[in-house]
Amino acid sequence: MTPNIRPLVAGNWKMNGKRDALGVVKQVADASDRDSLSKIDALLCPPATLLYVATTLTEDSALNIGGQDCHTNKSGAHTGDISAEMIADCLGSHVIVGHSERRTDHGETDAMVKEKAHAVLASGLKAIVCIGETEEERKSGKTLDVLKTQLAGSVTDKATAENTVIAYEPVWAIGTGLVPSVEDVTEAHAFMRAELVARFGEAGQNMKILYGGSVKPNNAAELMSILNVDGALVGGASLKADDFIAICEATASVA
Ligand code: PEP
Repeated sequence: MTPNIRPLVAGNWKMNGKRDALGVVKQVADASDRDSLSKIDALLCPPATLLYVATTLTEDSALNIGGQDCHTNKSGAHTGDISAEMIADCLGSHVIVGHSERRTDHGETDAMVKEKAHAVLASGLKAIVCIGETEEERKSGKTLDVLKTQLAGSVTDKATAENTVIAYEPVWAIGTGLVPSVEDVTEAHAFMRAELVARFGEAGQNMKILYGGSVKPNNAAELMSILNVDGALVGGASLKADDFIAICEATASVA
């Protein structure tokens, strides 16, 4: 954790979840109002098909609902895409941009991610900008170089501590059960903090930096205790209400 930063635990459902998964949203929404979770923010990013129903279900709770991606434009001839404006219209609060699966499956570059982040901020929403090294890059000692390049290339100059969240997700840790060592997470997050401060000054000091990659109830407290880790981006474990709530509780317990 970073002193004075309110942690965020965000769940990314990816291409999972049909209408019967709305019960999970409801359970997490109910839990989000617990006193024990008053020190953190919780967010679920279901598929776009469930977004509006999810925000309707959770409007009286502390749980936020967000999108997993958006187009760079507000509207237009882009079959199959959705815009940040549409997510805002569905009462979403955040949009994830630059997830490694988007970078890999859809060839998204840092420049595209930056444009998407810009579109998110222009719609009045908060961008969660994902960065992280591949296994090969880590093995060849390039992790910090990759983070430097991706931060510079994916985060817009308009970023502030209020409108932008960074999510560090080592690609090799996503969905694999592998987690970097405490030392490696500490080094990566300290490096990102220094880069953000160098570029944004005080705003960089206050910007949330999440860790993502195989966060589970049994490792969340240790990961969230690391300096400059200001919450989690959770994939698989966010599909089960009990696991996601346990990660929220673990985060709150060290906040
Ligand atoms: C993710 O996809 O952002 C992620 C971190 O997935 P998981 O928690 O399943 O590793």
